[in-house]
Amino acid sequence: MSDPSPWAIEAEGLGKKYRGGWALRDCSFRLPAGHICALVGPNGAGKSTFLGTATRLVEPTTGTLKLFGVPVSDPAVLSRTAFLAQDKPLYPRFTVAETLRLGRELNPRWDQALAERIVRSGSVPLDARVGTLSGGQRTRVAFALAFGKRPELLLLDEPMSDLDPLARHELSGLLLAEAAEHGTTVLMSSHMLSELEVMCDYLLVLAEGRLRTAGRTEELVPAHLLVTGVAEGGDGVPEELRRRHTVIESRVTGRQFSALIRPGGPVGDAWETLAPSMEEVLLAYLRSPEAPGLIADEARVGGPGEAAA
Ligand code: ADP
Repeated sequence: MSDPSPWAIEAEGLGKKYRGGWALRDCSFRLPAGHICALVGPNGAGKSTFLGTATRLVEPTTGTLKLFGVPVSDPAVLSRTAFLAQDKPLYPRFTVAETLRLGRELNPRWDQALAERIVRSGSVPLDARVGTLSGGQRTRVAFALAFGKRPELLLLDEPMSDLDPLARHELSGLLLAEAAEHGTTVLMSSHMLSELEVMCDYLLVLAEGRLRTAGRTEELVPAHLLVTGVAEGGDGVPEELRRRHTVIESRVTGRQFSALIRPGGPVGDAWETLAPSMEEVLLAYLRSPEAPGLIADEARVGGPGEAAA
């Protein structure tokens, strides 16, 4: 039965506390279905903990999490999601064909033709043992297993991290094509910012367990400007910039002051401005955990479109 919820993920006050402290804290956002979303943050930011709550491997301490409008604790969500863990656990002694057969037996909505197509398009022999495959080939088999499940939401924990650039390029193309064809929502954590810029149209940035940024890249990235001008002396932010704009990150190099800002209005003629790339915006947020975050209206729980949910 199809679900009318337009939100693939809705987190409200989601938190996880370990003995050492909060790994994820008061995390509230929603991700509209059909997007390819990047989950970004430095090591220890809480990315895996969040993915763990979405895959029921981690029991949240606070808050709620719904996938397609269904609480994650409801077994009904299991068949609608697939998770590819960082180490892509596969049985090394199984052949590729046996691995796909396992997928078929475990998943009621299994699409054998799709899984085989993904494997074959990479020239991975079906009779090869998984343990003998290259990293790229193993990732392809893991993708085949994940997509063969026909998930509506695919969760990937650093899927390309152990691949060479050629294999990364090829598999990210495969991921985008399959997701587009089947309307799959994808949430992927990664440190490869330039790659995410090409692949993702939605962003979630975590730092120190808190959500810093959430929204469509086409909305978030243009909300920022890179400004450069003459430093006033010292390493402080010039008063005029500080008063009228939100300064995310700034630096003084010799006589030059540069900053990434969220403009609160027109920027004075004294400043040269440039549109930043997504990578520049992400790096600024990652380097400045104390700067004010930015959650787009659409990504806010209770934001526009709530009536449709
Ligand atoms: P990321 O995936 O962004 O690197 P994690 O979610 O793995 O971050 O970790 C966030 C924080 O929670 C870190 O400080 C980490 O040490 C801690 N943490 C993660 N898992 C556990 C656990 N099972 N027990 C205790 N602390 C944990």
